[in-house]
Amino acid sequence: MPHRPQKIVVNKEEKVMTIVWDDGHESRYPFRLLRERCPCAECREEPQDPPEGMLVLRLAPRDELDSVELVGSYAIQFFWSDGHHHGIYSWDLLRRLCPCPTCSREQRRS
Ligand SMILES: [Zn+2]
Ligand SMILES: [Zn+2]
Repeated sequence: MPHRPQKIVVNKEEKVMTIVWDDGHESRYPFRLLRERCPCAECREEPQDPPEGMLVLRLAPRDELDSVELVGSYAIQFFWSDGHHHGIYSWDLLRRLCPCPTCSREQRRS
């Protein structure tokens, strides 16, 4: 059974989202981590080598959040202040992104 959140708290001032899961586990996600792991096609696309003689500059993704919305009962969607909002973060993905020591140890094992 995939885990589901019991409580989601978004703190725009500290730029942290906290999820309390149905098994009591608590995850704290800095906005920057969420933005960097945006699952949308645009963000996951590998940067292409530019044609010879050309340079491509990429701006670091912003970690300012405008709002958060639930997508059905299976995911949430972030609306970043630079207008980006294509990533749908399923509970499954969020649980896997949990940066706490316990979860990162489990990820390394599998
Ligand atoms: Zn994205
Ligand atoms: Zn964790």
